[in-house]
Amino acid sequence: AAKDSGRNTHRIFTSEMDQRVSEYVWLDTNIRKALEENQFELYYQAKQSLTTGKVESVEALIRWNSPERGLIQPMNFIPYAEESGLITPIGKWVMETAARQAGLWKKQDFNLRIAINLSARQFRHPKLVEDFKMAILAADIYPSIVDLELTESCLIEDETLALKLISQFKDLGAEVHLDDFGTGYSSLSQLSRLPLDVLKLDRSFISSIHNDIRAQRLLRSMVAVAQELQLKIVAEGVETQDQAEFLRSIGVDLAQGFLFAKPMPAAEFEEWFRQFRQLKSVA
Ligand code: C2E
Ligand code: MG
Ligand code: MG
Ligand code: MG
Repeated sequence: AAKDSGRNTHRIFTSEMDQRVSEYVWLDTNIRKALEENQFELYYQAKQSLTTGKVESVEALIRWNSPERGLIQPMNFIPYAEESGLITPIGKWVMETAARQAGLWKKQDFNLRIAINLSARQFRHPKLVEDFKMAILAADIYPSIVDLELTESCLIEDETLALKLISQFKDLGAEVHLDDFGTGYSSLSQLSRLPLDVLKLDRSFISSIHNDIRAQRLLRSMVAVAQELQLKIVAEGVETQDQAEFLRSIGVDLAQGFLFAKPMPAAEFEEWFRQFRQLKSVA
């Protein structure tokens, strides 16, 4: 029996490996094709001020319209793209597309910042700053309306490089935000050494606020740390009015979440934003 189960484990293990390998092959072929055939799309989600209610910025979030599998969420292909290096051409496309969209909105007098996510491998790519500058130039926008959202994994591997890159983006006028703060391996001492503008509190801290006094205390102290370091604070994943009220009461500046708006395709976001602006001006 022991021998049998051993053999079974072996069989399961190989078939899982086979599955992983064939998924990799599928992703590799189809991501390349998706880039060529324009199957990627950016959705846009508002970030609102908790004090004025104004939409200050819009985060671009990638989606993949696969002819074979339908709508694919980033968590199902971004990690693979990171591993394979395909994140570089994807990231370039994201920067170009988000910047172009921001340029179109500027022409329509939407006074909005645009937030772009960068993952670690993309961050380390030697052409990143150049690609960023080209995207900005082509779109005819100022780099000062861009929020670059980095994850903690961008910071840990090579802090000297991170400092150099962040400084370059800051010199261009962009804001640098630390995304998913509190979930990764960056240290508090790094926060004091790097010229960041914003800490973006991860959704996991927000979802437990309700009825959890320790979660509330933790958030209060994270906000205190950010304030001492003169960083602004954004909360992501805000889903209820209670959460928004609590976050406002402890000094969080901006919030993003389903309570305010879901990520939407560009045209839908435009419609939402027009309506939102009108409601606000009437109120
Ligand atoms: P992120 O940058 O932390 O983005 C926030 C995620 O939270 C988004 O998931 C968004 O849809 C989701 N979200 C926002 N509000 C709420 C809420 O109230 N409740 C819940 N449950 N979720 C909310 P999404 O779009 O699936 O993106 C997941 C992650 O994929 C992003 O996390 C980011 O790390 C990565 N990603 C997305 N687009 C890009 C991209 O263009 N480039 C790179 N490198 N990474 C991207
Ligand atoms: Mg983000
Ligand atoms: Mg985030
Ligand atoms: Mg997050």
